[in-house]
Formats: sequence, C-alpha cells, structure tokens
Amino acid sequence: MAVVERNTKMKETEKIYSCEVKKLFLRNGIKRREWAKAVVADAIRDEATEFRCKDCHGAVRLRGKLVKDGSAPHIEHKSRQDSEYCAAGMYFRQHPEREPRMSESPVA
Ligand SMILES: [Zn+2]
Repeated sequence: MAVVERNTKMKETEKIYSCEVKKLFLRNGIKRREWAKAVVADAIRDEATEFRCKDCHGAVRLRGKLVKDGSAPHIEHKSRQDSEYCAAGMYFRQHPEREPRMSESPVA
C-alpha cells in the first residue's frame, strides 16, 4: 500500500501560464527590446528567448516542451523566495496574510 501511495502522490509544482517576454519594438524609427506580457504557449510559438515573471519580474524556469502530465506550457519561479512573495506564486497563495512584493533580484 505504501508503494502505491508514494507513486500516486503528485509533487505540487508551480504553474503560471502567462509571463513577460523581451520583444523588439520599433519606436520613432528606433528598435528597442522591451518586456511585454504574453501567454507562455504563445511566447514559445513566437520563439521568445527571454522570460520573466509578469508579477514580480523574477527569474523563471520555462516548462514548455516536455510537460509529463500533459498540462499547457508554463513557467515557474526559479527562486523559492520569489514564489513566497509574488502574487502569482504557489507559496504566496499558501500565506493569505502576506503582501506581494517585487523580486529582490528582478530580471532586467
Ligand atoms: Zn513572480
């Protein structure tokens, strides 16, 4: 019985489906790379290479290509600290008394 229980118990993972990606904008004839909000699945399709959290601007890990449980492409915070205090963070949601704040090491 213990073996079955261990195999079926899913490790809780963070899944955030929207993010910010660096995009090239043309403003007054000048090309600039700026952060823009995007759905993770769309960003992958657009071949975006730089991602960050849209809420805390922290570094994220992309879970896009091979998601074992069949869920849509998503991101998760690289830093547990970010997840603890980001409005989109899995750990933050476990602490309803907390105020969200920006990452201490935001991706510029
Ligand atoms: Zn965040």
